[in-house]
Amino acid sequence: MNIAFIAHDRKKEEMVNFVIAYESVFEDHKLYSTGTTGTRIMEQTQLSIHRFASGPLGGDQQIGALVADNEMDLIIFLRDPLMAQPHEPDINALLRLCDVQGIPLATNVATAEILVKALDRGDFAWRELVHKYKPGVDS
Ligand code: PGA
Repeated sequence: MNIAFIAHDRKKEEMVNFVIAYESVFEDHKLYSTGTTGTRIMEQTQLSIHRFASGPLGGDQQIGALVADNEMDLIIFLRDPLMAQPHEPDINALLRLCDVQGIPLATNVATAEILVKALDRGDFAWRELVHKYKPGVDS
């Protein structure tokens, strides 16, 4: 599965601790992140993560491009609900695209935990069908 991690600054420590706790689950998947979030996770785990640009510099949009193509299977996006972000339009666009495509999305650790346990149980198998039967760009 393709999994993306994004954490706003005051949520990065929570994200790192969460990923450490479920490292053995995540190591079987293809991982993506915004820039700093990925760096922080890789410093504290053995995971290899494809890092896009930092969120405020377009990272959310880069992940959103994969979501628009229905390529992302799970997004863990620990937003800071108590601080305005300069790239709020990009954040909203990413959340909207997840709803357009029906992509599992966690915006807090409680939800993320439930989704990761579901992932570990194999409950995301339906996403393999999405990948298999996804129409190509020219069909
Ligand atoms: P970052 O981006 O991982 O590069 O910090 C996330 C964000 O703050 O939007």
